[in-house]
Amino acid sequence: MFFKRKKKPPPKKASRISVPDDFWVKCPSCGTILPNPELEANSKVCPKCSYHFRLGAYEYARLLFDRGLEREIGKELVSADPLGFPGYSDKMKKYERLYGLKDSSIAGTGRIFGRKVVGFFTDFAFLGGSMGSVFGEKFYRAVRFARRKKWPFIAVLFSGGGARMHEGIFSLMQMVKTTVGVIELERKGIPYITVLGDPTMGGVMASFAALGDVIIAEPGALIGFAGPRVIKQTIGQDLPPGFQRSEFHLKHGQVDMVVDRRQMKRTIARLLDIMESGI
Ligand SMILES: [Zn+2]
Repeated sequence: MFFKRKKKPPPKKASRISVPDDFWVKCPSCGTILPNPELEANSKVCPKCSYHFRLGAYEYARLLFDRGLEREIGKELVSADPLGFPGYSDKMKKYERLYGLKDSSIAGTGRIFGRKVVGFFTDFAFLGGSMGSVFGEKFYRAVRFARRKKWPFIAVLFSGGGARMHEGIFSLMQMVKTTVGVIELERKGIPYITVLGDPTMGGVMASFAALGDVIIAEPGALIGFAGPRVIKQTIGQDLPPGFQRSEFHLKHGQVDMVVDRRQMKRTIARLLDIMESGI
């Protein structure tokens, strides 16, 4: 005796869910696999070990300011490639296409819990967040704007490259230009806070980044002039554990605070309350 087998219903076509390639992210510190939306909702900080993933310039502006960057300063500026450095113009065009940035920094106005401020943010994705002539000009224009309005100035940095080699001496000159800007803020009694992300190195750290009235570092950020590998090779000695990381600098007085990104906006608001009450 044979029984007719019941046919299985065909699988529904709509049951296939496509997952984007970048949906899952592995934390480089603790190895936890995290869904990207969860990470982004947590300010790109690992919920398991508090590792701080790098943030783009516009992303940080959105995190820090009530409505992101409201009025951008110097958005139209593009480097003139003063040395005619081989491949430089093509590289810049490529990065603009990939990241929607004309250079490694953005500047503009925003609000922190309603208080008007001027912000300057660098983006590691664009040539390591390095400092060229457009970078310096944007910084200085933002300083001029802050001075005119008497608004506090916040600089958030993810700059591994320091001064940009593609612009040679023009890049190095930006160390002076940005430093002059900081002095002008100081003369007007305008609060100037720097936030050092991972990494903040080279000419950026050796000029305006290290001159904040208050210097805040994100946890675990690599901060310094030359990198640890170069120093190790030069002095021929092993470096102490945690060398050039935020917590090491805090212990040795190079930075004033190490602040979790999730508390950054509130901390800066509190600092500005204190600083402005004394003006
Ligand atoms: Zn982690």
